[in-house]
Amino acid sequence: MIRVRFAPSPTGDLHVGGGRTALFNWLFARKNGGTFILRIEDTDGARNTEEAQRGIVKGLRWLGLDWDEGPEAGGPHGPYFQSQRKAIYDAYLARLEADGRVYTEENGAVRFKFSRTAITVHDLVCGDVTFAPTEEPDMTIRRPDGSYIFHFVNVVDDIEMKMTHVFRGEDHLSNTWKHIDLFNAFGATPPTYAHIPLILNPDGSKMSKRDAGSAIEHSYINEGFLPDAVFNYLAMLGWTPRADKEVLTRQELVQLFDPSEIHSANARFDMHKCQWFNAQFLRAMTPEALLDAARPFMESQGLVIADDAMAAAAVFSVKEKVSLLTEIPAWVHYFFREDYPFEADVSDKLKAKPENSGLLRAVAGVFAGLKEWTEASVHAAIEEAAKGASVKPGALMPLLRAALSGQSRGPGVSTIAHLVGRESTLRRIDRALAEVC
Ligand code: GLU
Repeated sequence: MIRVRFAPSPTGDLHVGGGRTALFNWLFARKNGGTFILRIEDTDGARNTEEAQRGIVKGLRWLGLDWDEGPEAGGPHGPYFQSQRKAIYDAYLARLEADGRVYTEENGAVRFKFSRTAITVHDLVCGDVTFAPTEEPDMTIRRPDGSYIFHFVNVVDDIEMKMTHVFRGEDHLSNTWKHIDLFNAFGATPPTYAHIPLILNPDGSKMSKRDAGSAIEHSYINEGFLPDAVFNYLAMLGWTPRADKEVLTRQELVQLFDPSEIHSANARFDMHKCQWFNAQFLRAMTPEALLDAARPFMESQGLVIADDAMAAAAVFSVKEKVSLLTEIPAWVHYFFREDYPFEADVSDKLKAKPENSGLLRAVAGVFAGLKEWTEASVHAAIEEAAKGASVKPGALMPLLRAALSGQSRGPGVSTIAHLVGRESTLRRIDRALAEVC
């Protein structure tokens, strides 16, 4: 039975590297019907915060990386916070003491006697990596104040929680021999490691918490990304699925996941590519799903949604124009208000020719007489009004768009008129005539 874990230290928000590590573990568990565990490595009281831990949980939940054991989920190997597992660590330390593998310094620090043999890591990504017998001083595993250090608790918990595989950042590879030395000292079989490539900035520097695009909450949740798109993008940071397309659902990624295909070279972060994924996912959504996703971003811009069906159709009508949910309010705001501003070039266009007001009056007249108000009837009315005025519909459309939205770009004019309704359409034309033309 496969068991993997994500083991963050809650020192800050979930960032891209952590999200991707969690994601690879999750994919591997889901692909193999295994168990995915969340373990909070919070032994460093000075650097760990509740807020960071909440941010990590929020980020994982947003990405849809649900865990089978861990905080909130519980499970048979808890507690899942290292800060609550001291008795277990004390018991493991006693075993090493009994075996003569540790000694206590004058200051109270406890050191582990390295085996000083060559140690080979059989890594799924990096292949066999052999470390020569170490010349480092023996490793402190318990500090004078009684707290345990990372390497020790990480190994004890991987034994206690019965981990079979560990996917983690390549920055941990150089210390893995220490972990294997501890596993051996406990007579335990080490998990199979897979050290995944680091994520670099576009300029090749190592991506850090402060770099653009690094924080899941600030760079993605708040910026209008869809979880499925970020999931897809992160999966491809260091892995190329064997598929004839790039846009893949979670289910497809689970099916395709194969750790032997994870790249050993570092991955380059590309925000444009991530946005491209987001645009693809946005375009594939139903109107209702798109509205659900866009609603908080619309409300935070003060748009009041009174009619869900109309609002869903409105956001759906601009889906080809945006790649982020945060861009949607600027494209649809006039659907939800009649006091929209007229962009400068739009007023210029309306004012440019004296006959423009006549054209708008003519189309308003045809609209007023329509028997039914459908997108098709609105479209036909525009053509009729243009014909009556001996202009091309292409000359009338931009004027009408300007009057109905205050903008020069947007969805089809008949779509706008149809969605806002006849009464509002006529009021909008009147307002443009009174205030702009
Ligand atoms: N707490 C460690 C980290 O955040 C976990 C390392 C591991 O996965 O073994 O890097």
